[in-house]
Amino acid sequence: MDPRFPVPLRGVRVDAQTRCAHYPSPRDVIALRCGACEVYVPCHLCHEATADHPLAPWPRDRFDEPAVLCGVCRETLTAREYLASASDCPRCGAAFNPGCAAHHALYFEGL
Ligand SMILES: [Zn+2]
Ligand SMILES: [Zn+2]
Ligand SMILES: [Zn+2]
Repeated sequence: MDPRFPVPLRGVRVDAQTRCAHYPSPRDVIALRCGACEVYVPCHLCHEATADHPLAPWPRDRFDEPAVLCGVCRETLTAREYLASASDCPRCGAAFNPGCAAHHALYFEGL
């Protein structure tokens, strides 16, 4: 696990704000939590590279639990908080990548 972050987090070439080898743009500053192992990953490809099981979307009945890490302020957001804003961090205002919304079904059950 990565001692730079307050939650268990794994990925490929993760930078200090949770960008990774796959999504290195300025706005790619969140990590998402796997519903199976509960480890945070910068993206689904990072999970594929570091885990021995498929990424499981965060379960719908746990949307009020932390499921997203903001790499800028390093605070966690619940799935509900993240999905309500999606384009920026409700804690620090950091801009998130709106393109992530195209992949929400991978990360959040029922979306
Ligand atoms: Zn997992
Ligand atoms: Zn990645
Ligand atoms: Zn933040």
